[in-house]
Amino acid sequence: MKLPRNEEHGGGSNNNPGLRHLVRLRRTDDLMFLQPGLFDELLINANHLENSSESTVAHLWQTELPYMVDPVLWRFQVPAWWRNPQGENKRNYARLGRAYSAGTNFRIAEGPLLQTVPNDSEWERLSANVVRYELDRLAGPSQLDFLDERTATELRPARVIAPALVALSNTEDRVNRILVDAAAAAAEKDVVAQVIIPDRRLRDRREVNALLTTLAVENVSAYFLWTPSVTEDMLLSDPSAFVPVLAIITALRERGIPVVHLQGSYVTAALHEVGLSGVAYHLGWIDKGEPASEQQGGPRSCQTYVPGVRYSLRFTQALHLGRHLTPSEYLERYCDCTFCAGVFAEGQQHPLDLLLEEQTIDMGDGRHRQTPTSRAATANTWHYLLARRQEVVAFSGEPAQDVIQRDMSLATALAGEPSAARLGRLAAQLHGA
Ligand SMILES: [Zn+2]
Repeated sequence: MKLPRNEEHGGGSNNNPGLRHLVRLRRTDDLMFLQPGLFDELLINANHLENSSESTVAHLWQTELPYMVDPVLWRFQVPAWWRNPQGENKRNYARLGRAYSAGTNFRIAEGPLLQTVPNDSEWERLSANVVRYELDRLAGPSQLDFLDERTATELRPARVIAPALVALSNTEDRVNRILVDAAAAAAEKDVVAQVIIPDRRLRDRREVNALLTTLAVENVSAYFLWTPSVTEDMLLSDPSAFVPVLAIITALRERGIPVVHLQGSYVTAALHEVGLSGVAYHLGWIDKGEPASEQQGGPRSCQTYVPGVRYSLRFTQALHLGRHLTPSEYLERYCDCTFCAGVFAEGQQHPLDLLLEEQTIDMGDGRHRQTPTSRAATANTWHYLLARRQEVVAFSGEPAQDVIQRDMSLATALAGEPSAARLGRLAAQLHGA
């Protein structure tokens, strides 16, 4: 059996070559949702591989999904990003740091990376180590090999991603350029270059322009754009966030290199209109802007994605909007994803009875809070992934203005003018682009 390998942009099983759809694997619980046909390529966090590689290998063999490994080198930039709340190094990051610094004269995860790596040639060695990790980490022998005759073919990533730092200043810009050039040399092929520009710098036009001039063009197959801490609401309400994102995509597209936005959302999918080639999602539906920091754990909050308005709402609000709708009204205005349609087809329940199921948990110290049941969390993940897929397909195949106008009508029918006005701002911003 042939495994997917080295797929070029626009190829593969996708019947919508317009907008490439990537989904990020962050934890083992994600695996059951990551099935072929729902998206095009899997983006696997390297820190996840250091927690659990066997189940990931088994999944890749079974699904034959094209994949790549995100090296998450930026996590070693600031100690708080790789340590636990007690200030200890997380074990998976310690292992990752050892792999990345093998054979060098420095040790990762002992201090901020910029102060740890002594010179340019050591940055180059670090980058080569990261590339080796991406190529080889999943390629080794697996227990599966004894159960399967496909031992002759190894798992190989579809693309190599150059390691990158969050571009806080021109110091990181310079290092990022070294990392890209060294990664391409080590991989002996074009690599994906990451552009990670924080909120503060994004809003300074001179800083954006300065960063753009430092980006490699040679040996780059695609740019992955990430703007930490910029939420979808910011893009909709604040031109000082939206305009530079648009300018970056336009500038990079003018170089003839595809751009993928790592914060997949309704708004970023609409940017297909201005040349965006792909979006990447993870399976969480609450938009926190993907800050470049450690995400705090804790129980899930009671929010659900409402495709009818294209943002997440609290359970009580979603209940108010959708629970009284008949099946045909719900499927037209609220959501017609395969999950919701399937619940109605079974005839016993309303999808919101599953999506909004909650329980009370004891937080200790006499405190209690509400959280979705595990059945509701599973239902919401399917519903979210399937609804996002519909959005990607819509923006892939139709002009953004047509998609948005249609969605504004549905939002008005479901939730009234204010929800439609939110989408109207996107239409206006794109119109002016
Ligand atoms: Zn649904």
